[in-house]
Amino acid sequence: MEVCHDFSTNRHARKNSKIWANGGHRAKRHPTLNFEDGNLAILAGEFYFLVHQGLISRHSAPLAAAILELSTDRLEGRPVLRVSESPEDMLHFLTALYDGVSSLRYDNAGFPLVAIVLTLATKYDVKHLRNDLLRGLRVSWPVSLIQWDEREAAAEDSDGHCIPRPSLPHPIMVINLARLAGAPELLPSAFYDLSRCSPSDSAAGYMCPTSQLAFLSAEDLMKLLRGREHASRFLSTFIVNELEGRHPSALCAFGAREPGRRSCQAAFEAITFELLRNINVSSDDIRGADPLYAIYDLEAMLNRNFVTGGDHPTLYQACESCREEFRVLAEGVREDLWRHLPQWFDIEIANWSS
Ligand SMILES: [Zn+2]
Repeated sequence: MEVCHDFSTNRHARKNSKIWANGGHRAKRHPTLNFEDGNLAILAGEFYFLVHQGLISRHSAPLAAAILELSTDRLEGRPVLRVSESPEDMLHFLTALYDGVSSLRYDNAGFPLVAIVLTLATKYDVKHLRNDLLRGLRVSWPVSLIQWDEREAAAEDSDGHCIPRPSLPHPIMVINLARLAGAPELLPSAFYDLSRCSPSDSAAGYMCPTSQLAFLSAEDLMKLLRGREHASRFLSTFIVNELEGRHPSALCAFGAREPGRRSCQAAFEAITFELLRNINVSSDDIRGADPLYAIYDLEAMLNRNFVTGGDHPTLYQACESCREEFRVLAEGVREDLWRHLPQWFDIEIANWSS
């Protein structure tokens, strides 16, 4: 950075000073964000923003400390604070500082902006912006199973297929942002989301809309694959221990009577068969490797009618007691699975809930 003579006729300009931005270009006033009564020039790249020292210092301790250390450089008569960010990133950050983040969107299209502001809010320790942004991100990357189920329900199309990807940012982007911003609470749900992809797809990375390929770090890829194995084993254990050869409830409406009692058992056999058929079968959505959904879907399947074979097919369904007993079991198993996510993906996190 070089300080030269300034022959500007601007009435705010201090004589004999001229600021050169990186690359040797003379610093220019940013066309978008400036206040005539601003008493600080933040210089990012070749552009500077005229802003207010009091507001900046109030929200950011690191910037407040930097303001106390300013040199004698002047732009339009204001002291100059140099930052390493690009003008575009600084514009988004300063706009958020003045206007808040209520206009930001947390979908795929809005995510790049959220990522920029969250990264800088973290770097400059602007707590209220960071808290607001994390609250917005946690709607889709939640800490509770109830919120996860709401997210998944919102992502279903009219045929019941889960299609979160076009509307939500890719989990690789979310994991990398959470690492950068020190927000581990976003990681378990993002890792779980990504674990529904094939390992080869996860390792290949994600091509961003900006044509950049985003990867997980080698360490996070290993955590993902290990967590995926844990989740898969959990489901296998559930199938063996709770589903295969399951007997009707002790409170079965049919008691010991045949063939009613037999229909409850046959219903369990039918949903077991359906589950095994669906697991890891490639499909047009990401639920082929989604234990949370698989167990949830068993409950739904059990409420359907099944058809016996033979020359005279008849409809049958498990009795209400058998269905209710299984519903309670499945809910508990899903909550247990959710509780284990941080452990399976090796994420240290406080206050993980279910
Ligand atoms: Zn029954």
